[in-house]
Amino acid sequence: MSEATGFEAVFGDRGDTDDARPVDHTAAELIDHVRAGRLSAAEIWDDYQRLAGADTLNAYLWRADEAPEVAANAPLAGVPLAVKDLFCTEGVPSAAASKILEGYRPPYTATAVERLREAGAPMLGKTNMDEFAMGSSNENSAFGPVKNPWDESRVPGGSSGGSAAAVAAGLAPWAIGTDTGGSIRQPAALCGIVGLKPTYGTVSRYGMIAFASSLDQAGPLTRDVTDAALLLRHMVGRDPCDSTSTGHPEEIALPSAERLDGVRFGVPPELTGDGLEPGVREVFEATLKRIEELGGSVQEVGLPHSGHAISAYYVIAPAEASANLARFDGVRYGHRAGNGDLLSLYEQTREEGFGPEVKRRIMLGTYALSSGYYDAYYGRAQKVRTTIAADFRSAFESVDVIVTPTSPTVAFALGERVDDPLAMYLSDVLTVPMSLAGIPAISIPGGLSDGLPVGIQLASPAFSENRLLDAAHALERAIDFKGARSRG
Ligand code: GLN
Repeated sequence: MSEATGFEAVFGDRGDTDDARPVDHTAAELIDHVRAGRLSAAEIWDDYQRLAGADTLNAYLWRADEAPEVAANAPLAGVPLAVKDLFCTEGVPSAAASKILEGYRPPYTATAVERLREAGAPMLGKTNMDEFAMGSSNENSAFGPVKNPWDESRVPGGSSGGSAAAVAAGLAPWAIGTDTGGSIRQPAALCGIVGLKPTYGTVSRYGMIAFASSLDQAGPLTRDVTDAALLLRHMVGRDPCDSTSTGHPEEIALPSAERLDGVRFGVPPELTGDGLEPGVREVFEATLKRIEELGGSVQEVGLPHSGHAISAYYVIAPAEASANLARFDGVRYGHRAGNGDLLSLYEQTREEGFGPEVKRRIMLGTYALSSGYYDAYYGRAQKVRTTIAADFRSAFESVDVIVTPTSPTVAFALGERVDDPLAMYLSDVLTVPMSLAGIPAISIPGGLSDGLPVGIQLASPAFSENRLLDAAHALERAIDFKGARSRG
């Protein structure tokens, strides 16, 4: 093997030995290899293009075929990125996994994707997702579900299921997704990787096909916490094209903490009581012990209104979605149907173009916003949202980080929840409160339950990403999750 070069030299004969597989290497490690001259950006690109091309999970909807130009000194060194299908990218199919946008090739690129490209992370492909990011299992995609690489009879979670599965299976070094009520954190948890939803507003939404604008937030899905910090560092920033974007008050640092001395962790009983699967509870309790071993303290902290989060979310998110989706009328983009008159153009296009879950949300949202009901539903839900945000603020007077499992269950079987929308909606019962409050939250792998990954969620006050990443880093080191390697 002495004449092996590039990727092969670094990774050995891929697949034969455990530590020879690209899936076991983080993006930060790849960047180091490039810097040290052991690997070139072109070799990484070629190898990952081949891996992505062999996708059998339906994680990708589109793959780039040309190696892009990357500046020699770009900080992310050319390590390619998988991008959720709802990020508009110039000239590339960007359909939010909906039939109504099939064939749409935007004339511009989303700010987050553009920033990462400039930083040296070119787009490897577009990943599958629930249509318009509505769902928790990726089964609402118009292009078929994604399989979970840990067990292909199970869902990868959603809505960023393609991004999560691609990273977990080694079909991409890292990926971005969006999180409206849990769509980065929950699939990261179910696929055994790291997923970070940043503070609302820190990453520009410009060019993201909108679901619920007051909640949508882009973020990284990665193999470890360091990679998440690295991607986030180059995603955040104020953008004149998105008036709600704030940027981040400090540079995102690479996390280095190994201990949790003095860090106060709060466990909200409202989110960690009944309803957790026993295997999830076990991993969660083991995590609390680890926190204490690392010098952190664990105490109970109340989030008294968080039990109402799902109800408020399923008024607010569909209401905003019904307004955002009004633009898909067959006139401007994508699919067009109808028999010539204007009304049938609208009706037929939307009837054929939207899937059942999207139609359900449009009906829910339109109803909640209709005259006479607005105050009773939308107005009331907004008040609940404000109260939930206030709960978090007062909790953060006595703790630094809130810790919960990310999902009440491990990955469930494909088909298991498709006919039961309420059961599906409850998949996000632990992630939606943080979305309503606009605060950052990260999911890291906590361990396995019957061979399937369990995610642990850490949340902290708005704009405290650096502290959150440090805490997650210390915990990640102690947990020492083997990721893809433990799949054998
Ligand atoms: N599963 C939730 C929903 O269906 C959250 C989705 C998301 O975060 N995009 O709305």
